[in-house]
Amino acid sequence: MPATLAFDPAALPDSSGHFGRYGGVFVPETLMTALAELGDVYASARNDPAFVQELTDHLKEFAGRPTELYFARRLTEHCGGARIYLKREDLLHTGAHKINNALGQALLARRMGKKRIIAETGAGQHGVATAAVCAKFGLECVVYMGAVDMERQALNVFRMRLMGAEVRGVEAGQKTLKDAVNEAMRDWVTNVRGTHYILGSALGAHPYPMMVRDFHRVIGKEAKAQLLAREGRLPDEMVACVGGGSNAIGFFYDFLPDRSVKLIGVEAGGRGIRRGEHAARFEGGRLGVLQGSKTYILQNDDGQIELTHSVSAGLDYAAIGPEHAYYRDQGRIEYAYACDDEVISAFQLVSRLEGILPALESTHALVHGMKRARALRSDQIVLINLSGRGDKDVNQVARLLNVKL
Ligand SMILES: *Cc1c(COP(=O)(O)O)cnc(C)c1O
Repeated sequence: MPATLAFDPAALPDSSGHFGRYGGVFVPETLMTALAELGDVYASARNDPAFVQELTDHLKEFAGRPTELYFARRLTEHCGGARIYLKREDLLHTGAHKINNALGQALLARRMGKKRIIAETGAGQHGVATAAVCAKFGLECVVYMGAVDMERQALNVFRMRLMGAEVRGVEAGQKTLKDAVNEAMRDWVTNVRGTHYILGSALGAHPYPMMVRDFHRVIGKEAKAQLLAREGRLPDEMVACVGGGSNAIGFFYDFLPDRSVKLIGVEAGGRGIRRGEHAARFEGGRLGVLQGSKTYILQNDDGQIELTHSVSAGLDYAAIGPEHAYYRDQGRIEYAYACDDEVISAFQLVSRLEGILPALESTHALVHGMKRARALRSDQIVLINLSGRGDKDVNQVARLLNVKL
């Protein structure tokens, strides 16, 4: 490994939103002004100590930061290799890391004087986080959700409505996340003056991938300080699941310059790497443009988006955040995948050994993290980001295990 980095994380993306050849701004002209305004407001907010302090206070009092760093003793013994630590984002209010970003963007909306919020959601976690912050700040909230997802995640739909959000079902296309994003963008084009779009992952047009990453950097910053305090050193390897890529990039970002730390993102292998059966963009995806950004996409020869599948709705998306594509090319972050059946058995194993129900998304990281722990020595450390809790997934797991509730 070279002693110096071939890239400077702090200089990415460039001023037009590019991470090397990835990223950028591919949107209708009507949104260019709104994105530029958002970029300007974010640039001033991030350097404004009052904004940073207010966000820090809300993250503490409302979301529950800092989250714990947890030594998974029994999981470590079970694997018989490296010590396994979990960063407990599952303990956050509303159940996942999503609230870090939703809070940050709600404060930006207020700064722009926008009183109406729209968002997309797949499994419902981002919708719930957005509905919660909108209730807290008294903002109007409309969440777009595919009709199929609304049925699969009826409980989250009810949660959002309880917190005052309007949930609009989307009947177009596959009736899942991608179609919900399309509807949200259509709404934004129409109502852009008074509306802010709280996008839920490190995806879409600039400045979203950068901004969402920055709002999640707190995960990696805390984890680094906590592990240094506890073990006096950095981890050997870090593992996180990658849907759009927001929890992973936030977790990894402050470790990018630490070349001794191996960083691994885990995609959804679904039922196996066959067309339409998975959502692992680096396994068979190709360069293309989807929903504002140039990145790796699962598409056919005509550029039509492929069907995707994963047991976890939060990883079931055809594109990966552009920054991930860049660091994969640089060889700085490696990518692996975990399949549905491995995820279902790890979900049960971790629940039984640690008394923690992990989200099915996060369980992808656990599957691969356990493999890595087995391959390493007992004096080494694997740090895994537990991006969310699995309470939302118990109905689905029961159905897959043929358990009647
Ligand atoms: C939404 C979600 C993910 C996937 O999104 P990223 O942007 O890739 O982090 C992962 N884990 C949980 C618990 C989620 O809710």
